[in-house]
Formats: sequence, C-alpha cells, structure tokens
Amino acid sequence: MPFVRFDNVQKSYDGRTLVVKGFEMDIEQGEFITLLGPSGSGKSTVLMMMAGFEQPTHGEIYLNGNPIKKLPPHKRGIGLVFQNYALFPHMTVEENLAFPLQVRNLSKSEIEKKVKRALDMVRLSDFGHRRPAHLSGGQQQRVAVARALVFEPELVLMDEPLGALDKNLREEMQYEIKHIQEDLGVTMIYVTHDQSEALTMSDRIAVFNDGVVQQLATPEELYER
Ligand code: ADP
Ligand code: ADP
Repeated sequence: MPFVRFDNVQKSYDGRTLVVKGFEMDIEQGEFITLLGPSGSGKSTVLMMMAGFEQPTHGEIYLNGNPIKKLPPHKRGIGLVFQNYALFPHMTVEENLAFPLQVRNLSKSEIEKKVKRALDMVRLSDFGHRRPAHLSGGQQQRVAVARALVFEPELVLMDEPLGALDKNLREEMQYEIKHIQEDLGVTMIYVTHDQSEALTMSDRIAVFNDGVVQQLATPEELYER
C-alpha cells in the first residue's frame, strides 16, 4: 500500500452534482504532487477531504494503509498552508509557530528548539518578535509555511500558497518551498492553477478538469506533449 491512496473518491456538496468524480491516485512518501487545474475543478475539495474538513460522498482515502476517516483531523499529522496565510494576528511570529506545538503538549524547551529551527528554515530568525501585520506578504507566507512544518508532519497540503504574491516573489518562493520539501523529505500535495509553477516544483502533476483527472504525469512527460 502506498503512503496515500485515493480510491474512487467522489464528492457532492448538494447531494446531486459531483464536484469530484471518482478521484484515483497513489502517492509515495516524499513525493511532491501538484493538483493543477482551473478554478472550480475540484482541487481544493480534494485537499479538504484529505485534511478532514469535508467527507467524501463515496470512495475512501487511505493514509499509511488505513482509512483516513478513522482519524480526526488533528490526529492525521498533516500541515496546512492556504493562500491567505491565516496567521493569528494578535500573536508574534514565535507565538504563531509555538501554537501547533503547544496544542500537542510539547515541553517548553522542545518548543523553543523547534520554533528556532523553523524560523531558521524560512530565514526569519530576526523576526520572531514581530506581529504578522509588521511583515511583508512574502514573509507572512514563509511564517505560514514554517507553522505548517514546525510539528514535523509527514504530509503537507498547500492550496495556492503563493497566489497573493507578486510574480518575482512567487518564483523565489517556489524554489524555497521545493527546497524545504526535499530537505525534509516530507510528502506534499500542492494545489495551483499556474502551469509553470506546477512544472517547476512537482514530481508528478494531476491535471484536473471538472472534477476528473485528465492526466497524471511527470513535468517531463507533460512538457513533451
Ligand atoms: P478548485 O479548488 O479547483 O477551485 P473547489 O474544490 O474549490 O475547486 O470547488 C469545486 C466546486 O465545488 C465548485 O463548483 C465550488 O463552487 C464547489 N464548492 C466548493 N466548496 C464548496 C462548499 N463548501 N459548498 C458548496 N459548494 C462548494
Ligand atoms: P478555491 O478556488 O481555492 O477553492 P474558493 O474561493 O473557491 O477558492 O473557495 C474558498 C473557500 O470557500 C473554500 O473553503 C471552499 O470550500 C469554499 N467554497 C467554494 N465554493 C463554495 C460554494 N459554492 N459554497 C460554499 N463554499 C464554497
């Protein structure tokens, strides 16, 4: 059994129309998988089901060979990053990073160590005491990336994490995220509608359209067509 398996996963929000129509995919540990497709094609819904915020209407998602629905969201060991950062505005950067660790009852010294390492990882060591509002958009998004990784999850889900950034910063962050992912060996499911982003970052790309996967291929294979 692969690390993640989507087995004929379907989703309807209204009980009539399927917005995900029988999604099948196996993901190996350490892979960077991108879900690429236009707005409304069902990409976010797949992430929401993986994260546990939505339930499949039909089919099954397996994590480490076990049906993921048996695990509540906070037990799935999944880090999340969304487009709008969703940092806690009243907390400093360090407090934002400590939060996922406090929730998991780590000791104070463990928390300090892991927060420091996460800050180093995204090159924000000098910004730990700032509040998010006093950071640039790129810095805020690096904090969001650090917060998703600080508790050392096995799997990270990112939904258009660079969508709010300008083009230059987006390209810089693509390499940064890819580098961190490879460094940590963490498995990634990454959602974007930006083809060049998908080609730059991914091991494999699932091309979504209208709730179905039209192609599942490596960037090299897609580029040749
Ligand atoms: P994408 O991430 O590719 O933009 P989504 O998964 O967000 O696609 O959306 C797929 C379809 O499901 C869209 O038609 C969207 O309007 C609908 N949808 C998404 N979330 C909900 C929801 N919570 N309730 C009802 N419809 C939803
Ligand atoms: P994306 O295209 O990245 O999914 P959206 O703006 O479509 O972004 O969706 C943002 C949030 O709103 C998501 O949590 C999604 O599930 C929810 N959503 C999207 N479409 C609908 C809808 N038709 N009804 C209710 N919630 C929706």
